[in-house]
Amino acid sequence: MVRQSSRKAAQAKTTVAESRTRAEKEEVKEAAEVSATSIKVNGIEKEVVAESKVAVIKKSNISKRKAAPAELDNNDEEPAEDNDEAGDQLQGTKKPAPKKRKTAKKETDDSMPLAARTAVASLKRAMYLGAHVSGAGGIQNAIQNATDIGANAFALFLKSQRKWASPPLADETKVQFHAMLKQHAYDSRKHILPHGSYLVNLAQIDDAKATQAFDSFLDDLQRCEALGITLYNFHPGSTGGATMDSACARIAAHLNKAHKATSSVVTVLENMCGSGNVVGSRFEELRDIIALVDDKSRVGVCVDTCHAFAAGYDLRTPEAFAKTMAEFDSVVGMKYLRAFHINDSKAPFGSHRDLHANIGTGFLGLRAFHNIMNHAPLQGLPMVLETPIEEKGPDGKTVENKQIWADEIKLLESLIGMDVESAEFKEKEQELQAKGAAERQKIQEQVDKKAEKDAKKAAKGKGKAKGKRKKKDEESCDSCGESD
Ligand SMILES: [Zn+2]
Ligand SMILES: [Zn+2]
Repeated sequence: MVRQSSRKAAQAKTTVAESRTRAEKEEVKEAAEVSATSIKVNGIEKEVVAESKVAVIKKSNISKRKAAPAELDNNDEEPAEDNDEAGDQLQGTKKPAPKKRKTAKKETDDSMPLAARTAVASLKRAMYLGAHVSGAGGIQNAIQNATDIGANAFALFLKSQRKWASPPLADETKVQFHAMLKQHAYDSRKHILPHGSYLVNLAQIDDAKATQAFDSFLDDLQRCEALGITLYNFHPGSTGGATMDSACARIAAHLNKAHKATSSVVTVLENMCGSGNVVGSRFEELRDIIALVDDKSRVGVCVDTCHAFAAGYDLRTPEAFAKTMAEFDSVVGMKYLRAFHINDSKAPFGSHRDLHANIGTGFLGLRAFHNIMNHAPLQGLPMVLETPIEEKGPDGKTVENKQIWADEIKLLESLIGMDVESAEFKEKEQELQAKGAAERQKIQEQVDKKAEKDAKKAAKGKGKAKGKRKKKDEESCDSCGESD
């Protein structure tokens, strides 16, 4: 999703969050010990237990509270809130003109949506759900933003994901980040999964560009270590037209160098949707990179459900899901699985297009997420939503609605142990599929048209069409920063 223009909104939100933090200081009860309350989620009364030292916030207090007027406090360094779709859309077959979205500077809804964090211990399976939240105004704000949506895990950008130069982490930011972590009881070694810059391509062939990419990558890893974060997720890269084997070797060499220059952070490769020269859409490519990494304890994999599905790994039925997980285990190894990106897909199976959809509305459907949420070996992993939350306001401007994430987290948690034959599940499944029907149809038509075009091209002249396509895909690998 192209969200450069959402920065102001994100900043506004941050300020809202900050003002709430201040207000909460007066109203929030510090729970010295584990305390419990209950909320209604999807019609089910759920126990919400605040972890030790977690601020217990009365939901009603927050929703009634009016936020302070948005004042934007800095800054150029913060990452615009984003998810993978940004570049990944461009990985598709056609490079669309950049979308210029107008994002409202202020929230239309100034009462902050909020969901209480579910105590993971109260779930039948220890699933840690969250989203890729904004760190606008300072990365410590990501923690408040995660708390606001009831996230037990979260992702963030550690610096601007679209700029090479970023100022170093300020000492004050580090102190605030650690204080917020403690206050909200997030385990930075397990449940925070920063996302790397879209510019960095560790498979870069050009020496100068490779150095620039590596320096930025290493800088991010050092930020992780300064913040006590163990997992760091990144897109493997792009071959730039060279062989896949050589690209995997270049990535692994950079990882080895980065591991030697740091002490603890685990570099987590994200699987991709498989267009053109992008590395990592096949499990075999991830395996080949890992095989060349010297310290295997410092490398892992994050499975993005949308990417996997678009790349041709099915997750929809229990059988298909089991097969995909078995394939992952036999090719890569379950011990390397460190995280999940939880996204539905607007594009059909095997389409190699990366278009994130809201949970249950896409081609994956609710059943796929039921499979994931009930798969015991995935317990304890950070599971991060990168689903769209932008909505058109009545004035036509785009606003972010973080309630969507809050609701999706609760929806996913509710799937744990749910009977798929129950009326509750079936109703929800149908409702969400209906919601996404028009969008699915639109993308399906695009995919069909493209297939038709390709078939015609192939019929005309095989060699010519192939050569042309390769070039096009190379150019369109935007999310990896491949510009040559
Ligand atoms: Zn990603
Ligand atoms: Zn992702």
